[in-house]
Formats: sequence, structure tokens, C-alpha cells
Amino acid sequence: MLFAGIDVGSTTSKCILLRDSEIAASALVDMGIGTAGPKEAYSQALAAAGAGPEDITCCAATGYGRATWKGADLTISELTAHGLGNHFLFPEARTVIDIGGQDAKVIHLDADGRMANFVMNDKCAAGTGRFLEVMANVLRIPIGDLEVLAAQAEHAAPISSTCTVFAESEVISQLASGTPVPDVVAGICASVASRVAALAKRSGVKEQVCMSGGVAQNGGVRRALEQALGVPIAYSPQAQMAGALGAALHAWHRLS
Ligand code: ADP
Repeated sequence: MLFAGIDVGSTTSKCILLRDSEIAASALVDMGIGTAGPKEAYSQALAAAGAGPEDITCCAATGYGRATWKGADLTISELTAHGLGNHFLFPEARTVIDIGGQDAKVIHLDADGRMANFVMNDKCAAGTGRFLEVMANVLRIPIGDLEVLAAQAEHAAPISSTCTVFAESEVISQLASGTPVPDVVAGICASVASRVAALAKRSGVKEQVCMSGGVAQNGGVRRALEQALGVPIAYSPQAQMAGALGAALHAWHRLS
């Protein structure tokens, strides 16, 4: 039996297919709510599993745009989905730091992977993937290259502004005054980390800590967060898929 989880995000769409508790296929499309992204992610995952829509026993949708996915048998909040997905990836995780395209969440889990409480920043682009996107655009480099550049930094450039628009001006003046690009990139990663660390400290950080969401792929942000929080952070290459995985697990739990 196949179970589908689809995460309709603000910037991306993710789909995971489970054959019972095994991941049978996954797909990620860089287009989120209001686009053909969710449909494309679903079709790609089905094709990768050699299956058709008729093979799906149950489909659960999550993410900011979950209500727009008409093929869902169930819906589940992003917080619950990230809790379930991360508990599957890291059974010992008690704190999940999820940084997506337009928000950041810190989710506390109990030993069974159920959400105990959470804090969230969805009011401001600083401390989210949007901040990195704006800065990558100023630097004219692909977002995926930020990690490698940050690793080459000698001293992270201080970026003190908490507002994305002012921070953008700071980055431009750092570049104009000759600060090496890797130092500027490390400063950008540290800025995201310090915003999210402040959020995490507000709610308390319980080990094991893991990261999910697209920004988790950036080792520069992960390392800066480890420094800011003083704890190691577990990371899986499936980090961006954790919400879709949680939704698929929810569908499986419901119908199995
Ligand atoms: P959403 O579910 O809100 O669409 P995701 O968890 O899919 O968000 O994450 C998307 C965000 O992750 C985007 O802002 C994107 O720029 C960022 N992102 C994707 N890949 C990387 C990367 N390698 N390094 C840093 N940020 C990344």
C-alpha cells in the first residue's frame, strides 16, 4: 500500500510516498502555493515509484497551502507534520528548528514525537529563507553556493541590522568597502542563526536538537546556530522533506 504526503510550501512543493514505513519515492519542485508545483511534485513522486494516483491508499496534505491541495484525504498542520517527520528521522529529537521560505519555527517534541509546544516567527523575513534569498540576489550567487563561501570565511562580517531591507544596505556597503565575499556570506548566515537562536532560547532548548526546512541545507547557518545555542544540531539530507514525510506518516498511521 502507498501513502502520500504533500507539503505545499510558500516557495517549494514536496511529496513523499511511503510503502508502509519505507520511503518509496520523493520529489521536490521549486514552486509553492498558487503554482503548478504541488501537482508537479505529486506526479514526479508517482512516476519515481512506478505508480498512479489509483495506487495511493491515503494522501495527507500539509504546509502553508495545504487547503489548496484538492486531492487530500486528510490535512495536518505544519507543526505536527514537522514533528512527526523529524521524530522519524531522529527518534531522540526533542527540539526541531524548522527554517522555511517565509517563517521559522522551534517545535518541542515529547518522547513519542508529539508536539509539546512551539514558538514561531512568521512576521519578519529576517531569520528565514527569504532573507538568504534576498542576500544571494544582492551577491548574484545561487543560494546553494552560500554554504561553500561561508566555509571560506576568515572573520564573519558583522551584520547588525535586524531588518532585511537595512541588512541588505549593510551587505552592499560591506562589499563596497572591500570586505571579502566569504566573510560577508558568513555574516549573513550568522545573522539568520542569531535571529532563530533568540527564538529558540525564548522557548528553551532541549537536546537532541535537529533542523528541518530548506535552510537546514546550509551548513553555514547550521554551524552558526550550533555556536549560538552551544549544542550540536542533527541534520538529515531529507531535512527539506520532513513536513511531507510527516504528512505521509500521518496518512499511514490513520489507515494502517
Ligand atoms: P517552504 O515550505 O516555506 O516553501 P522550504 O522548507 O521548502 O520552505 O525552504 C525553502 C527555502 O529554503 C527557500 O527560502 C530557499 O531559498 C531556501 N533554501 C533552499 N536550498 C537552500 C540552500 N542550499 N541553502 C540555503 N537556503 C536554501
